[in-house]
Amino acid sequence: MSSYSFQRYDVSAAGKWQANGSNGSTSKPRSGAAVDINEIFGSQTFSLEMMRERLPKNVHQSLLATIDLGQPIDSAVADVVAIAMKEWAIEHGATHFSHWFQPLTGSTAEKHDSFVTPNRGGGAIYNFSGKDLIQGEPDASSFPSGGLRATFEARGYTAWDPTSPVFLVENPNGATLCIPTAFASWTGEALDHKTPLLRSIEALNTQARRALEIFKIKDVNKVYSTVGAEQEYFLIDQEFFLRRPDLMACGRTLFGAKPPRGQELDDHYFGSIPDRVLAYMTEVEFELYRLGVPVKTRHNEVAPGQYEVAPIFEHGNIAADHQHQLMQTLRNTAGKYGLVCLMHEKPFAGVNGSGKHNNWSMCTDSGINLLEPGDTPHANMLFLFFCTAVIKAVDKHQDLLRVSVASAGNDHRLGANEAPPAILSIFLGDELADIFDRISKDQQTSSGESGLLGLGTPVLPPLPLHSGDRNRTSPFAFTGNKFEFRAVGSDQTISFVNAVLNTIAAEAISEMADQISESIAGGSSLEDALHTAIKETIKEHGRIIFNGDGYSDEWTAEAERRGLLNLRTALDAFETLSSDKNKALFSRFHVLNERELQAREEIALDQYYKTICIEADSTGSIARRIVLPSAIRYLNDVAGALDGIQRQNLAADGLAAVMQDLSDLSNDLRKACDALKSVNFQHEGASVREKAYHMRDKVIPAMTRVREVSDELERIVAAEYWQLPTYQEMLFIK
Ligand code: ADP
Ligand code: MG
Repeated sequence: MSSYSFQRYDVSAAGKWQANGSNGSTSKPRSGAAVDINEIFGSQTFSLEMMRERLPKNVHQSLLATIDLGQPIDSAVADVVAIAMKEWAIEHGATHFSHWFQPLTGSTAEKHDSFVTPNRGGGAIYNFSGKDLIQGEPDASSFPSGGLRATFEARGYTAWDPTSPVFLVENPNGATLCIPTAFASWTGEALDHKTPLLRSIEALNTQARRALEIFKIKDVNKVYSTVGAEQEYFLIDQEFFLRRPDLMACGRTLFGAKPPRGQELDDHYFGSIPDRVLAYMTEVEFELYRLGVPVKTRHNEVAPGQYEVAPIFEHGNIAADHQHQLMQTLRNTAGKYGLVCLMHEKPFAGVNGSGKHNNWSMCTDSGINLLEPGDTPHANMLFLFFCTAVIKAVDKHQDLLRVSVASAGNDHRLGANEAPPAILSIFLGDELADIFDRISKDQQTSSGESGLLGLGTPVLPPLPLHSGDRNRTSPFAFTGNKFEFRAVGSDQTISFVNAVLNTIAAEAISEMADQISESIAGGSSLEDALHTAIKETIKEHGRIIFNGDGYSDEWTAEAERRGLLNLRTALDAFETLSSDKNKALFSRFHVLNERELQAREEIALDQYYKTICIEADSTGSIARRIVLPSAIRYLNDVAGALDGIQRQNLAADGLAAVMQDLSDLSNDLRKACDALKSVNFQHEGASVREKAYHMRDKVIPAMTRVREVSDELERIVAAEYWQLPTYQEMLFIK
């Protein structure tokens, strides 16, 4: 905690946090130290354990068949489950229930309904039926639908996802029972991110099981994706936030000169965590444990004021729901400590932005991680098969992975020498790359051991979980037993990203499985068939493998020679979403039909447009109403001083120069504002695509110009005149 103080405005509250918590306002101290983890973990969820305890045996069994095997739920079963859930929730202080879903805005939505139902006698009872649990009917008209929902049929419906535990969200006066649901139009089209994710998990399950049959792997009922998403975020003092209209409206600073000291010294990363921040993190973790979110690691990130939290990986669908709860908890808890949590991809220009590393793998319900290199030839065959399939998938669908992370916010990050470039490539590490290289060239291994495939490929050397040469510049890196997709933005949902990963993997697995089955039918051994399939796939798709420095200019040139896509901005990426290739892919695996895909493209463009609109309006308003008046006030005082000095016949060139600079920059600022205004107009009649491009090509450069002039002014206007909290203050006061 800092004792920093400022003369120019009252920051009495900034940085003033008391160790007893939250400016003294938390009622219950949430200590992580003394809790019985067994008791609190998942205590806010109606967990499997809770179901076993509270449900009749046959109902419990039937529900498990739904959760584990995807069998449809019986309405009688749902009624019994609903009663048990309601009782549990009311015991825990719940007054309302809510179908919790992931609309296409990228965040989550909830509509609360009370458990209270009036009865005939003029009183009321608590009521919650199987029907209330299974299906809801929120008015869908306020959520983006990209044309999927005709205005005359505004209704959408939510459907319970029994595979993700219901949970309680507390408020000071009670709690709400939140039921994870999918959200669809009345005609059955997905209006959310969960539905395609669930469909993609099913596609992966079907194709991967088919492949496992070829390898004669028994006892597998299900294959699913596993996901662990590392979340980066910034914390700043609430006092500063409230004085920054840009942060309040846009989540990022639209103004601000780079501080004299930023992250140059690299002393923040993994540095000791300030007290207030640590207290905050401890409470966040405590709340997440209660929600059953298995958060594991926390540390400082590279930039000052930047931190990271990561859970232990889980089933992809639950991980996605938990990711939303994690973001929500990070946001909600900050206020109690006088902090604000910023999850924008680039809150501060010139300072590292925030991302989300989406760690992804595939796992059988019998516990085999399909991307784990094993120590037997058979295990390695499996690994090589699935790893090759991922290589093929990523190369073939670079565009989809790129589009899954595309947003106005992430445009500030990707390719800006701090995050992976906009070009997709795979880092395998030298050892693994060498193995693939040898297979593709039919080479003997150096050791000459007789190995798998009958062609001299050895049992894979044990690949350390964290190989020493971990490459931070790759957007898609193999890290021991999983792939880590690092281009995801900090503010994005991981649901779509994982729907894409699962679908493209399903396709590649299916195609390779076909190829191998055909060879076997033609008389090949499994080993030879696999060898040929890997060899041919690497020949065709090996160009995506790159182990070098992804930040270098040489890589951009090299990638172009290799024919890899470089979709620089979000808009370039959106254009590819509903290509014929992608329509065919998503419809083949029943993940998104053509209309659903088209709708997503519309919504992406619209969100981009609206984001830049808000930023442009905020830029104009802050420049005119805060920055320019500060400069003029200072200018006026300098002018008065200059006048006095000249009357005394003293040398005045210094002051005159200050005044000249102030006056020039003030004029420039006003001109830049006018230029911004002239391009930032209502685009009556234009399509959403035209509007989005106009924003990117005309409005963003005009905003950038306003900022440049303002940042110059910040460097010369006396501190006490400058109204906006500076980067220095926001990033360094803890
Ligand atoms: P870092 O990348 O920061 O070094 P780790 O490699 O330890 O951190 O883990 C990053 C994340 O990857 C964690 O959330 C972890 O649970 C997750 N992870 C580990 N194994 C798998 C897996 N098989 N599938 C998906 N995620 C995984
Ligand atoms: Mg990582």
